[in-house]
This record gives sequence, C-alpha cells and structure tokens, in this order.
Amino acid sequence: MDYQALADLLFPEITGTIGDYEAKYPPRNLPEGAVVTRIAPSPTGFVHLGNLYNAIGERLAHQTGGVFYLRIEDTDQKREVEGAVEAVIDAMNFYGVHFDEGVTKDGESGAYGPYRQRQRKTLYQTVAKALLLRGLAYPCFCTEEDLAKMHEEQEAAKENYGYYGKYAIWRDRPMEDIKAELQKGTEWVLRFRSEGDPANMIPVQDGIRGELKVQENYTDFVLLKSDGIPTYHFAHVCDDHFMRTTHVIRDESWLATLPIHVQLFDTLGWQRPVYCHTATLMKMDGSSKRKLSKRKDPELALSYYSEAGVPQEATWLYLLTVLNSNFEEWHMANPDADSRAFTFSLEKMSTSGSLFDLEKLDNIAKEYLSRQSADFVYDGLLTWAKTYDTALAERMQQKEALYRGAVAVGRGGEKPRKDYGSWSAAAKFLSFYDADTFEITDACPENADGDKRNAILDGYLETLDFADTQEEWFAKVKTLTESLGYAVQPKKYKKNPELYCGSIVDVTNLLRVAVTGRQNAPDLWEISHVLGEAETRRRLKDYRNG
Ligand code: GLU
Repeated sequence: MDYQALADLLFPEITGTIGDYEAKYPPRNLPEGAVVTRIAPSPTGFVHLGNLYNAIGERLAHQTGGVFYLRIEDTDQKREVEGAVEAVIDAMNFYGVHFDEGVTKDGESGAYGPYRQRQRKTLYQTVAKALLLRGLAYPCFCTEEDLAKMHEEQEAAKENYGYYGKYAIWRDRPMEDIKAELQKGTEWVLRFRSEGDPANMIPVQDGIRGELKVQENYTDFVLLKSDGIPTYHFAHVCDDHFMRTTHVIRDESWLATLPIHVQLFDTLGWQRPVYCHTATLMKMDGSSKRKLSKRKDPELALSYYSEAGVPQEATWLYLLTVLNSNFEEWHMANPDADSRAFTFSLEKMSTSGSLFDLEKLDNIAKEYLSRQSADFVYDGLLTWAKTYDTALAERMQQKEALYRGAVAVGRGGEKPRKDYGSWSAAAKFLSFYDADTFEITDACPENADGDKRNAILDGYLETLDFADTQEEWFAKVKTLTESLGYAVQPKKYKKNPELYCGSIVDVTNLLRVAVTGRQNAPDLWEISHVLGEAETRRRLKDYRNG
C-alpha cells in the first residue's frame, strides 16, 4: 500500500505536520512538579457533582504552581445545549473554582487553544494523517448494519466484541476498493491499525491507584468519525498532549478504554500524562450500592445544591471528606480553617466507589452553619433567597432586625444549635418568627389541653415580664407549673402520674406551640425576645381556647 497516496487521498487539504504543532504548543515553562490539569466537560447543560469532584484538580494545580484549564468536549453536536458553557463556568465559580485558561464566557484565553474540540479539527486530522503515513490507520466503510451483524456473530460465537482479526474487514483492503467506495460516496471512519496483542499486559502508573496492569489493546478502534470529528479517545490524546496536561483526572469509567489511550500515546511517542481515575460516586439504593444516575437522582446535578442552598464550603467539606481519606481528621483538628488550607493529595484519594450520602452532607452542613456568625447566616440566607425565594428576600429586608435576631438564636457558646444545613431548610425552620408565615403546625400537648390550656396561657401571660432575666423567667414558669398541678420534675410525674396533671414538659410544650407553632423549637425565652413583647403576647392570647 502506498501510504502517502492514501493519506493524500483522504486528507488532501492537510499539509501541516505534527512538528508544526509541537512548535506551536511548546512544553510549558513551569516550576518542577507543577501540575497542569483540566476539567473537560461536554456542553450538555448538565453540570454534575462529578465535574466538581474532578475539579479537585484545581487544588492540585494551584498547590503546585501549575495550571488549571477548561476544555469543552463538544464533539457530539447533537447533545450540545445553548448556554452550557456558561453553566459550567458559573457553577465552578460558585464553588470557588477558577480557571487559569481555556474556554471563557466570551471566548477563550491561553496559548494552547482553541479549547473547544470542534475547532481543533485540523490538528486531529494532521495527527491522523501522520498515522496514515506510518500505515497505522485506515478508512473503514462498514455501515451500521455491517457492524451490528458483526456484533451478533461475535455474540453467537462467544467471542470478544470489537473490530479486530477476521472482523476487521477493511484493515488490509487494496487501494482500488477504497477508491471505489469513495467514488460511490460511501461514508467512512478512520480506524487505528492496532498491532497490540491481548496476551500483553501493559503497566500504567495511576496517580491514585498506583501501578495498574492493563491488557494491550488489540481492536482497531475509531479515530475519526464519518464527519471527520474525533472520538473521545483520539481527541483526549491529542489535546492532553498538545495542551501539555500533566495529570488527567477523570472518572474511573474511563479505565475500560485506558488501553486505547496509552497505546495512542506510546505509538505517537508522546509522554503519557499521569492518569488519575477517581472513584465513581455511588449511593445506597435499598441494600445495594449503585452509581448515581442522572435520571433517577436529582442530587447528581450540581444545581440541586445551589437550589437547596447548601453552603458552598459545606459542599466542599463533604466532597473532601469523601475524596481524601485524611481530610476528616484534618478538619476535626482545624474546625474553623478554610478547606483550601488543606493540602490535597492524590495518594489519599479513595479508589473504590465513593458512597454519596445526602444525610452525611446535611450533617456536615449543619455543623458548619452552626459555627458561623449570625451575620454570615443572615447574608447567606438573603443571597440565596434573592434567587430562590424572593418573597422571603423581601420580608428579610423589610424586617431585618427580626431576621437577624432569628438567625442569632442558639448560636455561639459550647453547643450551638444545628437546626439547618441549607438555606432552604433555614427558610422553613425560621418561618415561625415572621407573623406573615407563622402557622401552628403541631398539636397542643394532650395533658395541657382542654380547660388547662387557658389556665396555663392566662397564668403565663399574667406573670410574663420582658424585663426578667432568663433565670427569673424560668423560675416563674416553674412556679406556674406547680400551682396548676403539674410536676416540675418530669421524673416525678412519670413515677406517680396519678398525682399530677402532667409535667413541666407539657406546660412548656404548650407555650412553645402557642409562640412558635411547634413543640420542637429553640429556647422560648430567646425566641420571645426576638419576637418582642407585643407579638409574643398576641400569639399566646390567640392560642387560648374559645
Ligand atoms: N468529556 C469527558 C467526560 O465528560 C472528559 C473526560 C476527561 O476528563 O478526560 O467524561
């Protein structure tokens, strides 16, 4: 076969060489050990947790004086959605992940672009032509039906799937056959001519998993699709080489095709990047573990967290807990330190399906929010509400003092309250403070209902004095409890229930329902002082029977 003739026949317009690109994209001038990495999402409009998870590369790049960039893998035009690039950039910004180069909202920046794959067609075709010239690529004119038939035959014969051996029917076809098909206008793809032997095991160093041994690739996989656009495999190798990526951090689902990638790097004589295959995010479904699914699990979408208003730092705290085995310990030792102060390392990353647990995230977020100042909470809630609950945002601005007071309740001290782990939960939790959203949701405790209800409420209203200290206030509650035949010590009531109407728990729960609508609420005295005397008295009166 005259490879030059074949290469010119297939790519007449390609005149450059790989050398031209080597010169155009020289090795980066960075300090020793600097990590150059990227995220490379497809512009489908769906920004998921995995994107943020792999954006951990930003930490590695910036910890080492390297570069973190954004590449858009838009080879599948059908899946492209308008505004998807902005969505990725906004989502990453929201989490404090900033790119040094790559695609931007209004174009791109950096010397290693273009950073959108569809704009790199000439580069891919130049590399493809070079492979053709070496006899390492060939056109394949198989139709979808041909390939489906091949797949069936392989299934029936219990053979490995793929285009190889006797199934690789275009691998050694003469030039006349190729010309004839081209003349007919038959569509073709460009395949790699693999010389790999499945008996060979190739060592690959994985930054997270250590040394892997992968079976050498023996299939003639597709380099360029019929529209001349590369497959992920070919584009990944060309891009990460010419963008001088040192670390490819990606989901472990790519381990299956890793043999193809290393084969390409090795064949082209390019230095392989350090592959870092991150553990797929899993969740418990009943008693079994499964991959988080776009269709079934809303929590896979990053927008889920911004809509729910999980504070960004809490999301990071959780992700780092899942990602790095030594993070939790570090965080316990440095509870108030920003997670950015933690030195992230690949070796400490988990290698098997990370269990994603919303409840654990919520606990981390509650703990995190409980440590923040009232001002932080007020500002965070207001910012969230401006986008996701505008009615709340308005109320917060109209009644700023009330809301500032509300978020301050139970804050500070040894054991701050952990009532909410997200802004949406805070909105719900705090709703009773505001007369506009106050509602009675819990029942009156049975032992304090009936004619006792008014007696308790009236007695309480009578002695209620906003000038009292918390101790004085509580002493009065105890006196009232006793005078109405309730046990001040719940234990005593439990022992001899026939001697009492109930215990102090019934009395205070009744008061709590009257003032907050709920039996479970923070300290009544503190709440009353946030509400103010008039509102507190109004609620207590309103709760009287009849
Ligand atoms: N476009 C690929 C994906 O979204 C990128 C994988 C990679 O980082 O190489 O899965």
